[in-house]
Amino acid sequence: MKSVTLLRMIVVKFGGTSVGAAPQIDQAARIVHSMRDSKPIVVVSAMGGITDALLQAGEAAVTGQTRVREDKLWDIRSRHDQAVNQLFKDRGVAVTVQETQRIIWEETQKVFTGVSLLREMSVRSRDLISSFGERLIVPMFAQYLATLGMEAETVDAREVIITLEESDFLLVDFDETRKRCQKLTKMANAGIVPVVTGFICSTPAGVTTTLGRGGSDYSASIIGSCVKAKEIQIWTDVNGVMTADPRIVPKARVLERVSYKEAAEMSYFGAKVLHPQTIMPAVDENIPIRIKNTFAPDVAGTLISAETPAHQYSVKTVTSITGMTLVSVEGRGMIGVPGVAGRVFTATARNRISVLMFSQGSSEQHISLVVNRHDGEQTVKALRREFETEIERRRIDRVSSISEIAIIALVGEGIKGAPGVAARAFGTLGTAAINILMIAQGSSELNLSIVVREKDSPRAVQLLHEAFELGV
Ligand code: ADP
Ligand code: ASP
Ligand code: MG
Repeated sequence: MKSVTLLRMIVVKFGGTSVGAAPQIDQAARIVHSMRDSKPIVVVSAMGGITDALLQAGEAAVTGQTRVREDKLWDIRSRHDQAVNQLFKDRGVAVTVQETQRIIWEETQKVFTGVSLLREMSVRSRDLISSFGERLIVPMFAQYLATLGMEAETVDAREVIITLEESDFLLVDFDETRKRCQKLTKMANAGIVPVVTGFICSTPAGVTTTLGRGGSDYSASIIGSCVKAKEIQIWTDVNGVMTADPRIVPKARVLERVSYKEAAEMSYFGAKVLHPQTIMPAVDENIPIRIKNTFAPDVAGTLISAETPAHQYSVKTVTSITGMTLVSVEGRGMIGVPGVAGRVFTATARNRISVLMFSQGSSEQHISLVVNRHDGEQTVKALRREFETEIERRRIDRVSSISEIAIIALVGEGIKGAPGVAARAFGTLGTAAINILMIAQGSSELNLSIVVREKDSPRAVQLLHEAFELGV
């Protein structure tokens, strides 16, 4: 006889668009209901647009725009109130949910008053402000599951996902988190559906922090790996991982299967459908990740696992990230100067600048790196300081930057060893007179990255999608 407690759990995550208003919450809850015998652990993001609105209210508080701040907060509150009123016909139930939310609203008011008085928003305040969206939705979602006849309880992820310590680079303490996730396992084994806040977590000292924008996907995979789930399901508003962002390439096609490596690479290079850190915890426990459409639950979606069949042209997807700056160190005198690359990395690391792409000309005449736009100026300054002597002695001619650039990435396991991928890509962009500023092939050979100007980026993505016949 099959024992219920031996069944492995399924982590089911719903993104903001999947819980944007009452009808969507109803749809998402019915999906959970349909898998009630598979021990679901639910992870939910804030209602779509709420995190943005909270942060905008925070900015308004910093700049003293009290009216804007109040209007934003009022909008946020009325969206939640409206959802509660539509979801719960029983007034008593609606009032109970609103009572739970009222406590969170009181905290929100205090935090915003603090930010308005200080007129500054520290990283901590920002994290706390952005935590409210997820905290406000879970009581609604859990109560709605109850009205569908399921036993459900809210779980604040700050009690289960714990970071190593406070640092600029967030690292999850998996040992501690695993211990705390036993609570979820116990609940699921007892037939209770845990409804966990996505995105947020806590430092060991109990300070609220977040996993970064779009981080609920990562919450789901952290929890999935800690409870050794059978599967991690990411429910969103598209049919799966696609050959390109459908907003840029309307003809983009859904991929049935993608490998862990491909998914990690494409999310790192801009495929917003998954938070870049989502893959790693799943790989560690070899847990498949399935991407599904909340609004078309019968569509198979995309399965992300260790293996994948290669596409005929070896390239599977084309992604892009904009808002980048290209910084170059140039000079003929660099030839033979030892350790230039090492010093570039030391200088950027010392200034906590994250380098997305790096390339060194074989003649050693230049080194280029791509950083986020907001780090551009600081990178130039740090490198000018690092190479001050060489610049004075004219061994290095200049450290310069170009802003408003984009990285386009062609990703696919089959790129490794496939001849002609680069030639086809460069030929395509060359014919369209799109200037290539830099190229790099990762050592994994899974990815060919091309830097172009931001204004050329959408067209470059469309042309490459066409050239590699990804839409057919
Ligand atoms: P959620 O709210 O469910 O977390 P997101 O907006 O974060 O959803 O991610 C889903 C969106 O990602 C899709 O609506 C789509 O526009 C975008 N997207 C970008 N690149 C891709 C891709 N390669 N495949 C699928 N979706 C993509
Ligand atoms: N609500 C958070 C955000 O908007 C997390 C998420 O959506 O995954 O970034
Ligand atoms: Mg998302």
